Amino acid sequence: MNSLEGSFEGKVALITGAARGQGRTHAIAFAERGADIVICDRCENSDVVAYPLATEEDLKETVRLVEATGRRCIAVKADTADRQAMDALVARAESEFGRIDIAVANAGVSVPAPITSMTSAQWNEVISSNLTGVFNTVAAVSGGMAERGYGRIITISSMMGRSGGTQMAAYGASKWGVIGLTKSVSLELANSGVTVNAIAPGNISTPMIHNDMMYAMMRPDLESPTADDVEPVYATLHAQPIGWLDPFEITRVVLFLAADASAHMSGIVVPVDAGVAARSN
Ligand code: NAD
Repeated sequence: MNSLEGSFEGKVALITGAARGQGRTHAIAFAERGADIVICDRCENSDVVAYPLATEEDLKETVRLVEATGRRCIAVKADTADRQAMDALVARAESEFGRIDIAVANAGVSVPAPITSMTSAQWNEVISSNLTGVFNTVAAVSGGMAERGYGRIITISSMMGRSGGTQMAAYGASKWGVIGLTKSVSLELANSGVTVNAIAPGNISTPMIHNDMMYAMMRPDLESPTADDVEPVYATLHAQPIGWLDPFEITRVVLFLAADASAHMSGIVVPVDAGVAARSN
């Protein structure tokens, strides 16, 4: 095991939006390295999200994969936009597992829409899931972490949290907001042994980018575009010539930001975006 990624023996890690995609990869990686796992996912589609979100079966599959490592897993169907649900999940984890040491605020949605036709429902969904959900997660865990004098909070922003993007007014605003929240909280908790950092991924190979809606947006000239058809278009959003990255490329950085090796890194944003950070400030 790479020592920079750390061992998490005896630690407890909370990951939101972990029924599939990057969240699932993070959960399994922490479990394989010795942590007990707490996960949630809304497991429900949204009227304004034009691709399917995770299902309860997906959440169960993450639990199965975590438990297969020999670690314990608390999993609940909960929307991160619901403050009470997040407080209840953290209270349950603290009561059953003793504490939460690591929190990854990962849940999120993508709702591309032109500003001239973006509805309030679309805007509210993105801000609720991507920004308020991160606030609710961070707020729920930070009290206990500060009290115990130890914590690692990792938020998931995006390359769209460092630049603008066509049809991305809501998504970009939410992801820039995540960075402002992360930096502010990192300063508030600097005396408490808690680090708070953000990751800004590029295109990551998950259902968020591999779906009919995104494929149609990337290749409006084709009737039924395939992954091969959209890959070169996704690559134009990066600097390096690659359409998307494997979710574990984000997991590796999550593990590093949760490890002792990064104890004195806080309030930063780590881009994992195939070089595109060079184009933004
Ligand atoms: P994904 O769609 O596979 O996973 C997101 C998960 O979050 C799903 O299981 C979904 O059901 C869940 N979810 C959504 N809203 C929720 C809510 N309000 N409460 C609880 N669960 C909710 O996509 P992913 O790529 O794994 O996304 C993970 C994070 O990475 C998101 O914050 C996303 O914005 C961010 N991100 C993704 C990409 C990409 O290209 N995939 C790029 C940059 C940032």
